[in-house]
Amino acid sequence: MRDVTSVLLLAGSTEATRLADVLVRVHGVDVLSSLAGVTTAPTGRAGRTRAGGFGGAEGLAQHLRDRPVDALIDATHPFAAVMPFSAAAAAAATATPSCRLLRPPWVPTPADRWVDVPDLAAAAAALSSLGARRVLLTVGRQSTWAFADHDAWFLVRAIEAPEVVPADHRLLLERGPFEVTSERAVLLEHRIDAVVSKNAGGTATMAKLVSARELEISVVMVARPAPPDVTIVSSVDHAVAWLDGAVGL
Ligand code: NAP
Repeated sequence: MRDVTSVLLLAGSTEATRLADVLVRVHGVDVLSSLAGVTTAPTGRAGRTRAGGFGGAEGLAQHLRDRPVDALIDATHPFAAVMPFSAAAAAAATATPSCRLLRPPWVPTPADRWVDVPDLAAAAAALSSLGARRVLLTVGRQSTWAFADHDAWFLVRAIEAPEVVPADHRLLLERGPFEVTSERAVLLEHRIDAVVSKNAGGTATMAKLVSARELEISVVMVARPAPPDVTIVSSVDHAVAWLDGAVGL
């Protein structure tokens, strides 16, 4: 083991930013955060950063051979469907200790009006079944395409403008975290009758669910993609503990 523990951190989630901060500032870890490069103004973070794809699992494995690290932590977003598998394969190919940081999904309460769907296409179909006419769409700018041909009015909220949007829409460019009071105001002001959300989990964007519950508004909830069969940790604290146990801090 080196004097300073080194980590390649695959970023894309709120937890990735917080983990980089804790590892660098509290534990003195040499962290290289890797961003996909899809957001033009990513959140600032502690440690070094790089941006752009590696070229699949083999490209990431080559990166790890060229620049070995003590551990690889995959903290991409819960809806990243490709990178977690590349990370798992590259870690196995290079015998790099690794884990997936995946926050727990949201779970409905008896008072929620959720329609659980497996994917975006099913979410659009569920809106038709509900007869929704005024929809708050909060699926991220890369996923709005699934609603492009849908006949309803959409309030499309995203951090950056999506390339494909439904014909009848208004754009709301905002980055969370959001509060219950302001979410309630958005739902009321725009007379929203359905919310579409990915089951991202976490607290930053949960307020819309609380407000929808209080206003008895339906939420079409898109399920997460299945993760690879790897070690999964559910919080920043657990990721730090895993790293300490696996390679030492
Ligand atoms: P994805 O399907 O898993 O990844 C697509 C490709 O983007 C990967 O094959 C990889 O390219 C590259 N990539 C993804 N994450 C990377 C990282 N941290 N560092 C370097 N390259 C990365 O993911 P996605 O759904 O397109 O999301 C792209 C990024 O946005 C991810 O970092 C994700 O965490 C974040 N994000 C996604 C969502 C969502 O809803 N999907 C929401 C918020 C944030 P190569 O194969 O060339 O290495």
